[in-house]
Amino acid sequence: MNAAGPKITSALPAIRPLDEAAINRIAAGEVIERPAAAVKELVENALDAGARRVDIAFADGGKTLIRVADDGHGIAAADLPLALARHATSKTDGADLLDISSFGFRGEALASMAAVGRLRLASRAAGSPEAAEIAVDAGRPGPVRPAALGRGTVVELRGLFHATPARLKFLRSDRAEAQAIHDTVRRLAMAAPRVAFSLRDVSGDETGRTLLRADAETGDDTTALHARLAALMGREFAENAVPVDAAHDGLRLHGLAGLPAASRGAAVAQFLFVNGRPLRDRMLLGALRAGYADLLARDRHPAAALFLECDPQRVDVNVHPAKAEVRFREPGPVRGLVVASLRHALASAGHRGTTVASDFALGAMRGAPAPAGASWQPRPPSRPGVASLHAAAAAQAPIPGLGEVPQAPFAAGPLTDEAEAAAGHPLGAARAQLFGTYIVAQTDSAMVLVDAHAAHERLVYERLKALARGGPVPAQALLVPEIVTLSEPEAAGLLAQAEALARLGLVLEPFGPGAVAVRATPALLGTLDAGALLRDVLDALADSGDVALLDARIDAVLSRMACHGSVRAGRQLRPEEMNALLREMEATPRSAQCNHGRPTFVRLERADIERLFGRR
Ligand code: ADP
Ligand code: MG
Repeated sequence: MNAAGPKITSALPAIRPLDEAAINRIAAGEVIERPAAAVKELVENALDAGARRVDIAFADGGKTLIRVADDGHGIAAADLPLALARHATSKTDGADLLDISSFGFRGEALASMAAVGRLRLASRAAGSPEAAEIAVDAGRPGPVRPAALGRGTVVELRGLFHATPARLKFLRSDRAEAQAIHDTVRRLAMAAPRVAFSLRDVSGDETGRTLLRADAETGDDTTALHARLAALMGREFAENAVPVDAAHDGLRLHGLAGLPAASRGAAVAQFLFVNGRPLRDRMLLGALRAGYADLLARDRHPAAALFLECDPQRVDVNVHPAKAEVRFREPGPVRGLVVASLRHALASAGHRGTTVASDFALGAMRGAPAPAGASWQPRPPSRPGVASLHAAAAAQAPIPGLGEVPQAPFAAGPLTDEAEAAAGHPLGAARAQLFGTYIVAQTDSAMVLVDAHAAHERLVYERLKALARGGPVPAQALLVPEIVTLSEPEAAGLLAQAEALARLGLVLEPFGPGAVAVRATPALLGTLDAGALLRDVLDALADSGDVALLDARIDAVLSRMACHGSVRAGRQLRPEEMNALLREMEATPRSAQCNHGRPTFVRLERADIERLFGRR
């Protein structure tokens, strides 16, 4: 023993057990870290009680009042004190913590709230002639008393954290806390489409401001879920999303995945659920991203609401006090299912355009400034087909005179047979080419504007991928090998991959220090500038980094290659070529986006065109 060690003196701090109130206050720090967390626990309790309707009100960001009323099975008067006790729950006997199908099971939410605020719990148990209530203030419960309540349960939490002022300091502005409450309720409501929800901010007065209202959805499960998602995520999302429904090996994934063209600038529209429980799980968010891998630019984020269902035994929800994270026993198959089912759903949506883009186009046209001083009203043109195209393509160009048919700004190609448009091809029949780049096509009910260059790039990319999956990509030997000079490390880097690149149709050989000889290029790409191709391949290899999966790296290389074989802007296409491109787009998965995630075509519905001219 070290003689210089601490001396035992009477000043040694005594160890003593904390009292119940202190224990609850400490636990509350984990479970109820902010008002939205209290709302989450209360709404989950309502759902666990089989509620068909849940009404939520709060004031001042939830700091002064949170009230949740439900029509669930209620609590017997005699059980009210128990409901408030820590580690008291009706949802598990604790024997098997992996076999949990309710939201709650830890039995500490009400106890924690009662420790950090003034809580009133009123309830009428199903079948009971009267209701009862109990109030707790800073952990001290009052007596059980009769109450007036028709059915279900009402929990009111006032003065949250008034007993722990230090915590109050950590709360954000009322506005930010209100936003968090809104987000929490929205997520919970997404997962319970058959339950009606309302959320009110009653800061000013008891009537308050309704922030969210969702009626109970009916119909089969999928119909009800999709209707609820449309109600909560917006019609625009629902109209630009594809259904996902896939099952594999005891796992099921379903929901809606936004089309790439409906992606967002931040990860603000990603909603993930495991067995009905909303959560933000890194693995799942990563899998979501991977499902869109070559459909989105780096700075775009998919919008999706995805529900994973699995045997509760395969996922541990008891790893986080607020259950915001879970742990999968085997994450691999879960990730695999998410990635595969997203890719599949998005691929089958290959030829669906985006209505966002057409709304946007419409807005842009409407926003075109009118000539100064003129009160100019667009009039129905004598040849609607041509003049509406004019409006779409050249909204800013001055109209040479009212009533005159303006010169259409495209090379007048031979108009194809009306019958072909009616034949029901989703992208319609080609009518004309604009600016040497865009194809104008007509379907039964819409005008379609195709970026031929972007579309062709995508088609070449998809063909290259399909070839690469089937074996070596056919290569075309150059008559004379092309020598490309690079830096020494670049040349060495490329040559290190020579074998893999040869399988992709790019055959390279060393040619002294800092140079490589290109012997063959992918046949599909035709004649090209080998030096530019090599530099792009180098970029793709650098971008995808060493850690990228092999497949992702190959795709990145193929994507760059595809750009070299694409229709050059400015080339005049023949009608057969245009129609062939449209038909191939319809037959190709993911062809609604170019390799960089931009849309390859936009649709303008006839109704939109008519609205543009004030005909509707
Ligand atoms: P847990 O939900 O983990 O069981 P809580 O502290 O949230 O723990 O709730 C304790 C108990 O109170 C629950 O197990 C349930 O029996 C009862 N309870 C709470 N809220 C309600 C409600 N809205 N309707 C019916 N019973 C409720
Ligand atoms: Mg609970």
